[in-house]
Amino acid sequence: MPAFTRRPAFGPKRFFFFNLFESDVTGAPLAVFGRSAGSVDAYAAAVGRWLVTRDGFDFLVHYLPDYDFASHAAGPGASEQALQRSDAAIWALVEAAGGPDEFLERYAVLLCADHGQTRIDRKVRLEERFLDAGVIVTASNRAGMVYRTGKTREDTRELAARLDAEAGVEAALFLEANEAIARRAGEELRFAPAASGWATSGDLTLLPQPDALERAWAALRNPNAGELIVSAAEGIEFADLAGRSHLGGGSHGALAAADSEVPLLTVGIDAAPRSITDLAPLALEHFGVEPPAYTRALAHAA
Ligand SMILES: [Zn+2]
Repeated sequence: MPAFTRRPAFGPKRFFFFNLFESDVTGAPLAVFGRSAGSVDAYAAAVGRWLVTRDGFDFLVHYLPDYDFASHAAGPGASEQALQRSDAAIWALVEAAGGPDEFLERYAVLLCADHGQTRIDRKVRLEERFLDAGVIVTASNRAGMVYRTGKTREDTRELAARLDAEAGVEAALFLEANEAIARRAGEELRFAPAASGWATSGDLTLLPQPDALERAWAALRNPNAGELIVSAAEGIEFADLAGRSHLGGGSHGALAAADSEVPLLTVGIDAAPRSITDLAPLALEHFGVEPPAYTRALAHAA
């Protein structure tokens, strides 16, 4: 915004965002209308074809969001057509290189989803449990966070206990000393990373292990997270502040495996990533760039 500030914007040399921002004229069709019919993936396919035809990049992020959109509306497993369109948007790149062999000779490939989805049968308004608690509740899709403020009187365990009677909560998570606690219906599981795996005590049935423990721990250690993190139970979505939800469709964000576990496929890359958090350091290493210290060490993850 020139009137307020003039600073350089750092980003890729080439960038395409729904025709709202286009660094090059590619002849790609209009993406902003007809999304339910797959206009965004079709746009990505056209731009991708243009880029591959010119070998116009070192590193390409080819993002196809239409399946997520369709699955939110109709529910997971009910959007086969959208999946076929996503497939076609990937194949457009392969064809532009002259076929799979030619494509893989030129590029290494990391293929992944950023999350799964599960079906939504009921919505819950999380903030109704905290009306007099002096906290800020942020909820969206299948996760919610509760932030303490200067007006919060209860400790975080007491805030978590407000959700004991809410059947829509799979787990209320918080940190206490150097341990994480998952709480549901008054039962608690304590856990923390140990020399090999996890040290746990309490009700081990509260979270599927060990993957959910790892995801819960990472979320709680995020400096931007609320003191209380809430994961929704099966079939439940937390309405956002405007009351919107994907009732009757699909959603994601909870610790459930179907929300959180994704396919990962690599071609032409030696390491085997076991989490999407491995992908950024893997791509940097591929180009001979030292990954920053905050990225997960691949050797550690293997
Ligand atoms: Zn989504």
